[in-house]
Amino acid sequence: MTLRDHHLHRLGREHFDTLVIGGGINGAVAAASLAGRGASVAIVDRGDFGHFTSQASSNLVWGGFKYLENYELPLVFKLCRSRNRLMTAYPDNIKQIGFYAALDESSPYTPRFAGLGALAYWIIGLFGTKRPRVLSTEQIEREEPAIDTSNVLGGIEYYDGILVDNDARFVFSFVRAAIDAGAAAANYVEMVGAERRDGRWTATLRDVDGGREFTTTATTIVNAAGPFVDDLNQQWGLSTQHRIVYSKGIHLVVPRLTTTEHHKVLAFFDDSQRLFYVIPMGRRSVIGTTDTRVDTPFTEVTDDDIDFLFEQINARMDLPAPLTRADIIAERSGVRPLVVERRSGDHADVDWTKLSRKHAIETDTTRAVVTIFGGKLTDCINVGEEVADEIERLGVPLEPDLRNWYGEPAPATREEFYRQARLMQLDRYRTKADTEPLTDRLWRRYGRRAFAMLEAIREDPTMAEDVMGSADYIRVELHAAARTEMVTRLEDFMRRRSKIDLVIRDDDIAASEGLADVARILFGDDAERRLAEYFGGHDRIPTAVRRGLDPSVAGRVDAG
Ligand SMILES: Cc1cc2nc3c(=O)[nH]c(=O)nc-3n(C[C@H](O)[C@H](O)[C@H](O)COP(=O)(O)OP(=O)(O)OC[C@H]3O[C@@H](n4cnc5c(N)ncnc54)[C@H](O)[C@@H]3O)c2cc1C
Repeated sequence: MTLRDHHLHRLGREHFDTLVIGGGINGAVAAASLAGRGASVAIVDRGDFGHFTSQASSNLVWGGFKYLENYELPLVFKLCRSRNRLMTAYPDNIKQIGFYAALDESSPYTPRFAGLGALAYWIIGLFGTKRPRVLSTEQIEREEPAIDTSNVLGGIEYYDGILVDNDARFVFSFVRAAIDAGAAAANYVEMVGAERRDGRWTATLRDVDGGREFTTTATTIVNAAGPFVDDLNQQWGLSTQHRIVYSKGIHLVVPRLTTTEHHKVLAFFDDSQRLFYVIPMGRRSVIGTTDTRVDTPFTEVTDDDIDFLFEQINARMDLPAPLTRADIIAERSGVRPLVVERRSGDHADVDWTKLSRKHAIETDTTRAVVTIFGGKLTDCINVGEEVADEIERLGVPLEPDLRNWYGEPAPATREEFYRQARLMQLDRYRTKADTEPLTDRLWRRYGRRAFAMLEAIREDPTMAEDVMGSADYIRVELHAAARTEMVTRLEDFMRRRSKIDLVIRDDDIAASEGLADVARILFGDDAERRLAEYFGGHDRIPTAVRRGLDPSVAGRVDAG
């Protein structure tokens, strides 16, 4: 039985204290904090965990330097504290990174004034990062020659955090923590309806992957449907003080634009005097983002978005050749679910970019529903704690919060892992010079689960082989993903548990025989079906991938 089948079975059989609807960051932390404090919890998402807004972020854990422009001091203070807590709890997954801002004549602030802002930000952030500095034009030229300094007056460097892997994997780490604490979790399960009778909810769930409908019961519900929270509350006849409006943001992944040694986020003011960034992602750079008012949560990257970002970058960077569409490796688009008060009108006349990025949590005590509106990845621990307070208020008894439902294992466990890895010379298996040592990678991605990986490699060294030439993944990671990471569709692995889809071009993925191997390890006999689903049809499985399949299977595919 797969992990998912086991959890589907539990969903149809058990009664839960809380049913969490939505497996983005907000639902995932809610489930982890409740399960970690002894509640019986179920969490479902109609797609994969983290597949909607939470996979479209900038991967930054930040206090919101730019919100100082709107004088949102309490929000910045709160976010800086959340950032500090996250960076302390996840020292290997969230790294401090410099934000390197070059200011030119059209920038709204002089370097000296921006420097004062950075100093204030550092103080509001309770000195949780390195001290900011003011940069001269010559310094910028020397330290990052990729910046075009012809109009630059100087700059600043301040510090925040970055998720080393990706946002969706971070979300899954909370789902996994919830599972480890006894929660029932299933991706591709949609809540299609729910009724409250005799003090309990009966929810009708649909297995999107298998088509079956079934019911589950729970005492309370956490509505963590992100951009869709209002739809669910409306369905249940709940009235709330807050509602969601949408702001679209896009990112483009391109070859690395900065020099290798310069592992920093570059920040520039665009023509509308809004900050945008060049963010490192391994051997790639991610450029973005935008902030556009939209009326639907379903968005995509448009030609105008691309033209705008390229124009901004090409005007401010000294690249060997201007960026063109051929440089795009991957695109991401999503909407920020922004929270506004219902009574404050439709906000048509408000400067969209100035709407606050705070979150709000509302509880309907009669119907026993807690709704999470808005928020940021950065604020996730606060959300987990606040939801637990509300669920406790609804009468579900919780164990005291020992703050052990989040964070990486203790330093002594880490030391032991590094010791064992050193003794078996794990890093000699690394095949590519420009990737990080295997020890760092396995520990960061898997924590305690990485011990079993060392054991597997000791027993069978082929487990340390790369599976797809161009991706940073070894065989043993695939086996672990198949068993413990609820990979239901191939895209779940390619785009969210890993970031292969983001950093490798479609053509290179299509040319990879190793992908068949990946699918076989993840799905066994179901590999061919999952590959067809990923490529959009049996006849669209690329020849190289077919070759990687068992010859008899390849024959069947050829025959249509
Ligand atoms: C462009 C952009 C950049 C950002 N950058 C950052 C950043 O750098 N740092 C930061 O801290 N924050 C950032 N954010 C904000 C952050 O990404 C979001 O606030 C956060 O991801 C929202 O998470 P969520 O759980 O509320 O929503 P979502 O991730 O959208 O999750 C909601 C889930 O509910 C599910 N769902 C809905 N209805 C149902 C149903 N009926 N049954 C089952 N499931 C259902 C959906 O499938 C979805 O997966 C950014 C956002 C955007 C758009």
